[in-house]
Order: sequence, then C-alpha cells, then structure tokens
Amino acid sequence: MIQNKQENTAAYAKLMDEQDPLRKYRSQFHLPLQEDGEPYIYMCGNSLGLQPKGTAVAVRRELRDWQNLGVEGHVHGKTPWLPFHESLTEAMANLVGAKPEEVVVMNTLTVNLHLMMASFYRPRGKRRKVMIEADAFPSDKYAVESQIALRGLNREDCLIELQPRKGEFCLRAEDIHSAIEKFGDEVALIMLGNTNYYTGQYFDMKQISEWGHAKGCFVGFDCAHGAGNLPLHLHDSGCDFAVWCNYKYLNSGPGGLGSAFIHERHIGNKEMPRLSGWWGHNKKTRFNMRADFDPIPTAEGWQLSNPPILAMAAVWASLQLFEKAGIENLRQKAISLTAYLEQLVSSLGEDVIEIITPSDPGQRGSQLSIRVKNADKALFGRISQRGVISDWREPDVIRVAPVPFYNSYEDVYRFYAVLKEALSM
Ligand SMILES: *Cc1c(COP(=O)(O)O)cnc(C)c1O
Repeated sequence: MIQNKQENTAAYAKLMDEQDPLRKYRSQFHLPLQEDGEPYIYMCGNSLGLQPKGTAVAVRRELRDWQNLGVEGHVHGKTPWLPFHESLTEAMANLVGAKPEEVVVMNTLTVNLHLMMASFYRPRGKRRKVMIEADAFPSDKYAVESQIALRGLNREDCLIELQPRKGEFCLRAEDIHSAIEKFGDEVALIMLGNTNYYTGQYFDMKQISEWGHAKGCFVGFDCAHGAGNLPLHLHDSGCDFAVWCNYKYLNSGPGGLGSAFIHERHIGNKEMPRLSGWWGHNKKTRFNMRADFDPIPTAEGWQLSNPPILAMAAVWASLQLFEKAGIENLRQKAISLTAYLEQLVSSLGEDVIEIITPSDPGQRGSQLSIRVKNADKALFGRISQRGVISDWREPDVIRVAPVPFYNSYEDVYRFYAVLKEALSM
C-alpha cells in the first residue's frame, strides 16, 4: 500500500523520473502520438515493443546495399548478408545469459517451437507425454498438440496440463515439483511459458530443469515474455532449449524474427533428430550444393533458410540499445517501476481490483495483470479513450507492462489516474 501520501502524486512521479539513470532512452523510441500531439500512455510493450529510432536507419542501410549491390551484397554489403545473423549472436547471447554458440536468431517463435520439438519431443515406450501449463499461450498449445498428433499419438494420453489450485491464478512451485515427481517417468518433454503471458508469473527455470532432468525428461521454455524483460541465465539454468520472439520486450518489429537457445551439451550432437535446411549446413561446403547434410555444431545447425535481412537489421538496431543500457540496469528500473504501479493500483482497494501477478518481484517481470471486479469491456473502452494503450483479456483482466526502456514513472502515475477515474464512472 502507499506508505507515504507524497508517492501518490504526479509530482512524486516526476521526481522519480528526474532521478532515473535510464530516462534518456525514452527519446530513442518513437512513442505513438494522440491527436493533440501528446504521447499515448503506452503500456503494451509486452505485446508489441515500440520502434527504436535507430531501426529505420539500420533497415535503410540494407535497402541501400541491395539497391547498389544486388546479389553482391551477400559478400560486399556493409554488413555482408551471408554472415549477417552472426552479427546478432553475441548481443543476443548476453541478453539471455547464453554462450554465443547456444543462440541463433531465426524464423518466428512458433516455427522455432516446432523445430525444437522435432528434436526434443521424442516419445518412446511409456515416456510419451508433454507437460504444459493449462493456460499456456494458445499457439504453444496448438503446436504441442499437433506434435503429439504428428507422432500418431493422441492428446488424451499424452498431454498433461498443470492447473493452478482452485481459486488461484498462478502455479505453485511445489505443485509443479509434485507433478514432475508423480508423472515424470512418463514425460518426454516439459515445456512451460516463461514468463506466463497471462498472469506474468516467472518460473525458476533452473529448479524446474533440475526436477525434470532428475526424472529423465527434456525441459524447454517459451521465453516470449521473458526475453528482454528479465535476465534469463539460460545456460546456467541447464534447460535443454528455449525459444522466444523479438517483437515484445525486444522491440524488433511486428512479426519479426524469433530466436532459439539450445544448450551446449546438445549442439555438437550431429545425430540429434531435426528438421533441416541448407542454412544449418557446414558453411565451408554449403554452396557445393550436393554434400550430405553436415550440421553446424552450434545452434546455427538448426537454421533452415537464408534469413530476411531487413528483419534482421531491426533486431540488430534493438540489440544495440540493450548492449548500451544493460539488461541488469533495465531490470533494476523494471522492479522499481512495477512496484510503483503495484502500489498505486493496490490503493484502489481489494474490493475493486485484484492483481493476479505474483507480488514477489522474483516471480515476475514488468507486467501486472489486473483483474477488475464486476468489470466489462466498457471499462477498457473508457481507459483507451483517455489515452491508455494496454491489453484486455476476457473476461475481466487488464494487462499492463511498464517497460523500463521507454515508460516513465509519470506514465505509470497517469495510467493509475485514468484507471481511477474510469472506475468511478
Ligand atoms: C507472443 C507469443 C506467441 C506468438 O507466436 P508467434 O509465432 O510469434 O506468432 C506464442 N507463444 C507465446 C508464449 C507468446 O507470448
């Protein structure tokens, strides 16, 4: 709750902004403007991150190389296109806590999830099941179900859905553990969203990986809502794989490229079953065009196609900002900004709202999912009319994400003031 009345004022928010060491980054982004020229209160970076001003510059550079060089751009471009993806790897690896050879930017998220399941979902004997969250993101659930069907198995036998306890929204760690203990011998793959898209709950990947591995399961995570939001420490977590998109907290543009992480212990294994393409083949002999498939012994060995350079330029521009600002610094601000949002919104009273995101900062990123009692979509309409861009999930949840790169304490304060006004109507 609000400890100090001062904190519940616009003046306090302004003061916090003045003291914010990352405040200069807001001007590096295009903030969508309302008709009167004022920026919207953009709280939707968990859905589509805003455009960095450097993106157009980076994309134009590639358009110019294509214009001037044609096919020669593959070799003679400013950043030659053949190894273009390599220019993203180190920054991306830093961001997610991986070794460069464990990370590759490629395809889109759901495609990467399928590619990882081709390798890591290997049902055999009585070990045939996949464990997911009951409220997994729909695309993840469809992907898992279709992989089960593709192996000639059926969903009823092979899908285990982890349900929160009655009356709760988040999964308890001890319940995940006991489900793994109970069913682990029959589970081929544990695949959880991290951070959960709906509740904003962040799971301890290291602990879950240890539990899963002790039972002989592969463990993978969909980090669509985690990458660029929290430091992930993917390598140390020991998980077998992770996938994510780069257009949410990673600000790389709508429908942009995704990424995959494959743990070091698997990347050199040429026997690993996979869906292959020529871009995953040994770079020395790729253009001989006839050699048997010889996978690159890094995460790049899972690449399929020569990648879209324009989309990669957008990822590059975004990663430059992360390298400058530092994910640990962004995380510090995110913790503070989210706590401020929590304090303000909580002051509206438990009879009006319930925050379903965990209150422990260690179990969440920047997002708060706010359940509004007796609300309908008209409330969301009212806050949208007043300049808030956020996200509504039926039946009664508003998801808001104060993103440390471009959201200010004042944005958070204004969101609260708009919500309070809209609730009183
Ligand atoms: C955003 C998101 C997706 C979207 O998948 P695309 O393949 O990028 O369209 C899938 N899963 C999760 C968990 C997400 O958060």
